[in-house]
Amino acid sequence: MLRKLVNHAEVVVVLEPAEPLLIASGIPNASGIDLPFVLTYRGAGDRGEPYLPGSSLKGVLRSHSERISRTLAPDARVCDPHFHKTDQQTHERIAFCGDWLSKPRSGEPFDSATVYRRSCPICRTFGSTACRGRLAIGDAHLGDSNACPLERRDGVGIDRFSGGASRRAKFEMQVLTRGTLQTRIRLENFEDWQLGLLALLCRDLEDEQVSIGHATTRGLGRLRGTLSRFDVSYIVPPSRQLDHTRVHGVGSLLGDSSERGPYGYRDDDGFALDGAPPTLNTRGIRRVISLADDPRVLRGFLDSAVAHWARRMDEWRVS
Ligand SMILES: [Zn+2]
Repeated sequence: MLRKLVNHAEVVVVLEPAEPLLIASGIPNASGIDLPFVLTYRGAGDRGEPYLPGSSLKGVLRSHSERISRTLAPDARVCDPHFHKTDQQTHERIAFCGDWLSKPRSGEPFDSATVYRRSCPICRTFGSTACRGRLAIGDAHLGDSNACPLERRDGVGIDRFSGGASRRAKFEMQVLTRGTLQTRIRLENFEDWQLGLLALLCRDLEDEQVSIGHATTRGLGRLRGTLSRFDVSYIVPPSRQLDHTRVHGVGSLLGDSSERGPYGYRDDDGFALDGAPPTLNTRGIRRVISLADDPRVLRGFLDSAVAHWARRMDEWRVS
């Protein structure tokens, strides 16, 4: 883990169900519903309110990133976290980075910089059992004005052989059909392409391309996201000039190559912003660009960031 914090991005996303959502708690509740929605308890005497756990959100954003990266960037060799080194190797599936990086064959453990450098782009960003990852996402909670947005629905199990409805597998479930839930995503010490990946995820949330929870192939789970904040912050000495028409990745912010090399950071880590340039404000020790304050700036940033991510993935080589 880099022992400095040189940049970070903080995004606030407002999520709402584009289709009914079901994240089952796994614990039957007093209502007698077979698949009750997961609840959180925030205050004493609270009867619980539905929420989207950060771990579930992180899981779906990770698998969405994996699928897109494997499609666009086969040379980046994105691993499969469900495929372990003891399984038989195939060309199509790549063993989880966490397995071989946490227990190297030589017996001598890798230092954290080597683990980062040798991890695939998705493990570098989301983490693995060998490294922490740079992206964190919090639980999504309902806004204060929302009345309880849960509804009861009948579910029908699918017969595995006929593909039709199974008469014995009727059940009742609780789905979330309306309301807005807010979550916060934080990305620390990002490389330029990691900010691009975050931009891609934000855009796909806006375009209803991400689903969460149960029965996502049966008309449940599609999310719609709206960005209410997208701040990029830099922590650099006050004497250092920063070009506000560019995004600066961790590699370009570190002092010398002895800090960059072990992690595999590039010295040209960053990209130019297309469209309207944002303003760079000083807040205490941070210099901040608030991209979501102006829709034209935000669109220009998302376009540049996603295009840059695709370029970096296309030229990715395993080191
Ligand atoms: Zn990996």
